[in-house]
Amino acid sequence: MASVSLPARTTAVLLDIEGTTTPITFVKDVLFPYIREHLEDHLSSHWEEDECKQDVHLLKKQIEEDIKQNRACPVHTVDQTVHTDEEKAIREVVEDVLWQMAADRKSTALKQLQGHMWRAAYTSGRIRGEIYPDVVPCIKTWREHGLKVFIYSSGSVEAQKLLFGYSVEGDLLDLFDGHFDTTIGAKVDAKSYERIAERIGCQPEDITFLTDVTREAKAAEDAGMNVLLVVRPGNMELTEEESRHYNLITSFCHLQLTAHT
Ligand SMILES: [Mg+2]
Repeated sequence: MASVSLPARTTAVLLDIEGTTTPITFVKDVLFPYIREHLEDHLSSHWEEDECKQDVHLLKKQIEEDIKQNRACPVHTVDQTVHTDEEKAIREVVEDVLWQMAADRKSTALKQLQGHMWRAAYTSGRIRGEIYPDVVPCIKTWREHGLKVFIYSSGSVEAQKLLFGYSVEGDLLDLFDGHFDTTIGAKVDAKSYERIAERIGCQPEDITFLTDVTREAKAAEDAGMNVLLVVRPGNMELTEEESRHYNLITSFCHLQLTAHT
């Protein structure tokens, strides 16, 4: 694959994570299975701790809401009693979490519990963030050329910092000038990219965005950003038209900094 020149006016590079810096399978094959496998253990060993109590409280409120909305959730009544039967209570939470995950729910309650479990997994070294081998050396080169580097991912900023802070290549947080998640807006909405440029303090035209998803690429392009589509193993196939329209790279090393001295 031919290399692509970075426009001379680019001062900041904005990076997607899944399918761009990190294999798309990392979430599906590492992060989600971790929750499924360690959920019951996690709840039993932290049941009496405040953080876990809050997580369970939030999940129960979610279950109540689901019952009200008549969603087909597996728990039909919420046990209002103080937990006389801890095992039963834990089983209910496990059942509900597994159901939410199977249904690909994005509830705050689910995300909060998952976030706490992943934090423990990362900090204890049971999980390490996967990064493609070309990513770190290339970002270092870009930085040496004065470029700023930011992350924009649908994973929360906290989750992003865990992935890069506890990665297969160690703590990489120094490589980034800032992180954005969907609290700034959806990744398929052009407005989000305008807001990001505003926050960075430059024009959208000064930013080059790297992603694997064409709908995100389109939104960034509509906002005025320069866009490169990253082609990695396992990423979604591009249509012929998409392949023609976008500049494609299969490695960060294919980005040429000829105009940046
Ligand atoms: Mg992606």
